[in-house]
Parts: sequence; C-alpha cells; structure tokens
Amino acid sequence: MMQDAKTILIIEDETDLILGLTDAFEFEGYRVHCAQTGEKGVDLAAELHPNLIILDLMLPGMNGYNVCEAIRRRDTVTPILILSARSQENDIIRGLEAGADDYVTKPFSIGELLARVRAIFRRIAPDREKNPSRLIHVGDAVINVDSYTASVGNKQTDLGFYATAILQLLDERRGEPVSRDEILDAVWGIDANPTNRTIDNFILKLRRVLEKNPAKPRHILTVYGQGYKLTQ
Ligand code: CA
Repeated sequence: MMQDAKTILIIEDETDLILGLTDAFEFEGYRVHCAQTGEKGVDLAAELHPNLIILDLMLPGMNGYNVCEAIRRRDTVTPILILSARSQENDIIRGLEAGADDYVTKPFSIGELLARVRAIFRRIAPDREKNPSRLIHVGDAVINVDSYTASVGNKQTDLGFYATAILQLLDERRGEPVSRDEILDAVWGIDANPTNRTIDNFILKLRRVLEKNPAKPRHILTVYGQGYKLTQ
C-alpha cells in the first residue's frame, strides 16, 4: 500500500497546523512532506513531484501567490489547494488566478480538508484515462481538458482542474442551464462541502479567461434563479 501512497506537499509556516495536518493525512495513508517557507516549497515541489500541494497564502518571505505562480511556471497539472486565513473575495480570486485549483478558508475542519483532497483525487483519476486530450471550444478559446489550460490566440492560461471540470459539465449540457447544486454534486461530490459562492468564484475565473468582456459575458451566462449556461 505504501508503494502507491500519494504524496502531499504542505507549504505552511504554522508549526501546530503542520503537525495536525501531517498526522491527519498520514493516518489516511498519504505520504506527507512539509516546507515552512515559500522558497523551500517551490524547491520541494520540483524535487518531489507530489500528487497534491496544500499551500498557505500567508507565508513569511515569498507569499503564497508567488509560490503558486512559480510552481505553475514549471507544472500546470499538480492540483494546488490554498489555505487562506482571509476569507476576502479578492484573496481567493487572486489565488485562483495564480493557478490554484481549490481553496479552504481558515478556520477549517480537518475533516472538510480531507474530504476536499479525496474529491480532488477521485476527480483526477478517471478523467485522465477517459478523455486523454479532449478539447472544448468557447468563442475564440480552446480548452484542453487534459492539461487544464485555455488557449486564446497565442496566450495560454492555466485554468486548474476545478474550473476545467465545471466547464466540462456545462459543455456536456451546452445550451441548457445547470444549477449550482448540480455543479457541486458533479464536480466536488457529496462529502466535500464547498459553498455555492465557491462556484461563483470559479465562474468568475472562467469568464476572465474566456470572455472578451468578463463583465458582459457572451458564452458563460448566468440564468437568473437557475444557474449557469454555456451558449451553443
Ligand atoms: Ca501562515
């Protein structure tokens, strides 16, 4: 079992939190490595090729956003889940734009974090094999479902797998509205427990990448009282 144990890299400066998280993840059978500074985290991410990275935004020295961007320059695929003490919308959006896949705001329960991590792994495994390099077209953008990236002209942007998964679901039902609850169930699963607001943040991220004018979207539409719809 230890042979195919998944490796998690935790980049966090609070010693108590590191100890708590390490215990909890090891108990679940994960192999855990920790870095207490952003610089060390970037190095370990390149050296260890972890299966998932948990990244605190508030770090001494190099902050979490810069760490996220530095990791993403080399690696667009490894899921990054950010921990933020600040539940402010702007911090979350900025983290997602720096290339993070998901976030949990402090204080959080370890159970919730474990559920999110399990959901991430559940989501990655089958998709990789089912659809090795499916492409989705949205306006002028081409989204590669396999690499979680969007290309508009010469510019390639990392979407992260949650934003990509939401887009995949909207694409499968293109032209009809999909409710936030359906998105939560299909993308996160029932044991992880993000809020509807989480989905709105990922939609915001998708619009910023895929829409010419994100404030007046033409492709990813809000259907009042029903959810979101990808146009034909
Ligand atoms: Ca911190």
